[in-house]
Amino acid sequence: MKTLNIALDGPGGAGKSTIARAVAARLGIVYVDTGALYRTIGLYVRRQNVDPADCAAVEALLPGISLEIKYEDDGQQVYLNGERVGDAIRTPEMSHYASSVSVHPPVRAFLLETQRQIARENSTVMDGRDIGTVILPDAEVKIFVTASPECRAERRWRELTAKGIETTLEEVLAEMNERDARDAGRDIAPTAAAPDALIFDNTGLDLEQSVAFVLGVVAGKTGILPPRG
Ligand code: C5P
Repeated sequence: MKTLNIALDGPGGAGKSTIARAVAARLGIVYVDTGALYRTIGLYVRRQNVDPADCAAVEALLPGISLEIKYEDDGQQVYLNGERVGDAIRTPEMSHYASSVSVHPPVRAFLLETQRQIARENSTVMDGRDIGTVILPDAEVKIFVTASPECRAERRWRELTAKGIETTLEEVLAEMNERDARDAGRDIAPTAAAPDALIFDNTGLDLEQSVAFVLGVVAGKTGILPPRG
């Protein structure tokens, strides 16, 4: 059966992953968090004490990495050489490592087929930076999700604080601006809206409103509605 793929791209803190997870649950399809893959490579690079900015050194580590994605009771889990990485990839340090390793073409090439294979085998809501432009250019629905930097920094700060990670709003905003600039400015697969993507600025909207918007776009483009219940 042909799969349905919904690509949600955009900068950090725009709420992509929360929206994508909720939309996937409503439609009964698979949520794919592609940032987790870059974060896991970042974790491995950190553990090997390699400079994440050193493309050749990072590339040399790739043959030692085996990634597996499993869907468990608590959602998507990434396994790194058989180890469930869990929340070890969710720290601000790993955000930095993920963004640093993701500029290297060998890293992006390493993850390309993993992402495409999941989309071939499952209907998905996939969130990332280059899903609509590079990974799934034929996705049925493409939405570029964004919000004001202040709004995004506040959401990220709330997320981190809820996890017990101590940081200030100013630190989060500075880190986010740095990461967004690197992600949007890199030569390969920068954060960008595909020409056929819809731009969705959700500043000031809550999760329910954002989910309703995305489901409305999906229904309008594909005729697919969430099952009742
Ligand atoms: O989405 P998340 O914040 O978890 O992503 C972490 C980092 O991984 C991003 O800042 C970006 O550098 C990289 N990334 C990417 N392409 C994707 C998803 C994430 O380059 N599709």
